[in-house]
Amino acid sequence: MFAGDLAPNAALKVTLVLCDKDFRPTPSLRLITYGVTMPYVIGTACVDVMHKACVLQCPVDCIYEGARSLYINPDECVDCGACRLECDAGAIYYETDLPDDQLPHLADNAAFFSEILPGRDAPIGSPGGATALGRLGVDTPLVSALAPRNP
Ligand code: SF4
Ligand code: SF4
Repeated sequence: MFAGDLAPNAALKVTLVLCDKDFRPTPSLRLITYGVTMPYVIGTACVDVMHKACVLQCPVDCIYEGARSLYINPDECVDCGACRLECDAGAIYYETDLPDDQLPHLADNAAFFSEILPGRDAPIGSPGGATALGRLGVDTPLVSALAPRNP
């Protein structure tokens, strides 16, 4: 059966499944034992790079700019994977594919939105779009503590 033979809604589902298969890395059976779920996670390779190529690809504007790194809002991300394909630094991972040394960024990406960051009086939460907020100029303690990347 071809997508064109299906009712409109069914055809849409087929298209989305095919897109998902293209964007998603090979599924992993790794068990996530953290209490936080993230779809895609930005790791260390973004720190002090931040060229924002991923931001341009995000259909829902949910990649927020800190001071030294970008962060994906887990509540706003629609799990499309477009950002990961665009990141030539290899900084973006699907949550189940994080290497061990990047696992702390899973909870840390979420904490950027749920915790009160230094110099702020409330969590960022889910503002519904990063562009309107612009550069927030603050990072999580984990990212702030990382050594500066050599130019
Ligand atoms: S494309 Fe990758 S390195 Fe560039 S800003 Fe986005 S996450 Fe960071
Ligand atoms: S997976 Fe899609 S929606 Fe989520 S941050 Fe990346 S581009 Fe945006």
